[in-house]
Amino acid sequence: MTAALPAFQEKRDRMVIDQLLDRGISDPAVLRAMAAVPRHLFVPSKERSHAYEDRPLSIGFDQTISQPYIVALMCEALKIAPGMKVLEVGTGSGYQAAILDRLGVRVFSIERIPALAEGARDRLKRLKTASVRIREGDGAAGWPEEAPFDRIVVAAAAKRRPALLWKQLADGGRMVLPVAVERSGAPENPAVPAAQNLMLIERQGKEEKSWELCKCLFVPLVTADD
Ligand code: SAH
Repeated sequence: MTAALPAFQEKRDRMVIDQLLDRGISDPAVLRAMAAVPRHLFVPSKERSHAYEDRPLSIGFDQTISQPYIVALMCEALKIAPGMKVLEVGTGSGYQAAILDRLGVRVFSIERIPALAEGARDRLKRLKTASVRIREGDGAAGWPEEAPFDRIVVAAAAKRRPALLWKQLADGGRMVLPVAVERSGAPENPAVPAAQNLMLIERQGKEEKSWELCKCLFVPLVTADD
């Protein structure tokens, strides 16, 4: 284990240079967090040697840990500052929660699959990320007892923006989320994944500003809200 550590650090440093810096991620705190969090401990052992590759990986239950670039892009777009309160929908492996913890925020993360929530809890405890709280349930309903949140990050693609999350976003707050692109005309071909946009939304009172960050491909948000 100890002998393998420098190799993983080297892969992580490479990942930061080739996948993040070279593609324009420039927030020093985000780059530091991505260089520090041991991503290989968030994937199943058979995927460990692939942990620093430029793609999402399977974490079981038909779910994935997001591609490193997408995690960094979401964190950078949110403009996170230490001390903020952040809601994450879709804990998955707990990797993005660990990155957020490194950015010095309080993380409230919701996962609908109990076994994933349990695994993430164990991992984050071992890594001493004390600021992350995880609960099981439908994240589209948010975490009303802890609202408002300064930032909200959604790691699964909704058909439309969940209304309850908007209500729990603080004034001046920012949210990133993948949203499925409406397809008109052509019949659905299940072999072709539906296109999604990664959206950044900023709340100014009752007004919103929104930007499309890039095209993306997340697992679906499974919610009673549909
Ligand atoms: N942030 C994660 C990525 C997880 S993938 C990571 O770093 O590993 C998206 C996760 O969202 C999956 O684990 C999936 O089970 C979960 N999910 C899907 N719909 C959900 C919902 N309505 N509420 C909470 N979690 C949901």
